[in-house]
Amino acid sequence: MKILVINAGSSSLKYQLMDPDSGDVFAKGLCERIGIDGRLTHKAPAKDIKVVSEIPMPTHAEAITAVLDILVDPVNGVVSSVDEIDAVGHRVVHGGMKFAESCLIDEACLEAVRACIPLGPLHNPANLLGIEACQKILPNKPQVAVFDTAYHMTMPPKAYRYAIPDEYYEKDSLRRYGFHGTSHRYIAKRVEALEGKGLKVINCHLGNGSSLAAILDGKCQDTSMGLSPLCGVPMGTRVGDIDTTVAQYICKNYNKSMDEVMTILNKKSGVFGLSGGVSSDFRDLEAAAAQGNEKAQLALDKFAYEVKKYIGAYAAALGGLDVLVFTAGVGENGVLMRSMICEGLEFLGVKLDQEKNKLRGDERIISAADSKVKIWVIPTNEELMIAQDTAALAK
Ligand code: ADP
Repeated sequence: MKILVINAGSSSLKYQLMDPDSGDVFAKGLCERIGIDGRLTHKAPAKDIKVVSEIPMPTHAEAITAVLDILVDPVNGVVSSVDEIDAVGHRVVHGGMKFAESCLIDEACLEAVRACIPLGPLHNPANLLGIEACQKILPNKPQVAVFDTAYHMTMPPKAYRYAIPDEYYEKDSLRRYGFHGTSHRYIAKRVEALEGKGLKVINCHLGNGSSLAAILDGKCQDTSMGLSPLCGVPMGTRVGDIDTTVAQYICKNYNKSMDEVMTILNKKSGVFGLSGGVSSDFRDLEAAAAQGNEKAQLALDKFAYEVKKYIGAYAAALGGLDVLVFTAGVGENGVLMRSMICEGLEFLGVKLDQEKNKLRGDERIISAADSKVKIWVIPTNEELMIAQDTAALAK
């Protein structure tokens, strides 16, 4: 089968055409600057092709058309006709309480995704644009929605409820949902294949956005992001956990609206804010810290410290720890950051092998032979999960 995986943002759209069984990627790419001008970057790994072209993309529909055009292009394409594409899988960020699993897209599903917009106002509208554009251009292909929140629906109430007045949960469904669920689910499955069932696992998905999940026997018990992806550990530009009074203070004393404060907490904070604006990219922060930039060093220290605290908290929540996993951009590549996080966790049975840790992007054990807890680096593959769910539901 050939599944087209779509991840639509407000002005960008990522795609992969892949085989859900083998995981082979036939083509992948990115449409950027949708609604501004439009640029397509397309790669076909087996043909060793990379093309970048400027294509007008006033809306997501033109972006999808550009993707389909290049997929069937005689030179740069990988299929002879769109008929070869069996189905389309869409990443949808917020599934609210409606979706514990992926869903074949029909009018009822779309209605439910729309109903989640108040919970995911920054992401769901863009995801819907991607779905609607695909429905328009590929009306006869099955389309599937795969939700970032779905994997976390196994959390018990004590983990997902906020200690706010009950009515806000009962009426408005305000609670912890968690994100990166497709990545956490992929890792949970890989750990089961690599280490077996019934294990206590903490997965650290550390990228530009970061979240941790406490996993027991493959099922999520707790996760660090909440109603939105803003909370948990500090991120590239997101603040992470914070006393809400800080928001009120900035609002009042800097004469800003709540929306403006939220933009500061989402886009100007995290390691970017803490480093005094050096960068949201951990490579830049490491380079600056190595040159003696104390704010960059503080940003790295703070990030490692908060991840370490979550590991401690989740080990307590799980009543022990068997496997600690690092994934996503920083988790897969950040040799220094993994070392900083694991340092001092020996009391939990976490002992890193500094030599084995010198790896980037491979699936490998990095714990010492006598470490009670196995430490793994596992490259995540959200697209594969989306393709597999899509194939299963489209059949
Ligand atoms: P996103 O959340 O956007 O999907 P990624 O998972 O791709 O993010 O992670 C991107 C981050 O990975 C970058 O901000 C960068 O800091 C980090 N990263 C990539 N390579 C390295 C590296 N070699 N060392 C440290 N950090 C890295």
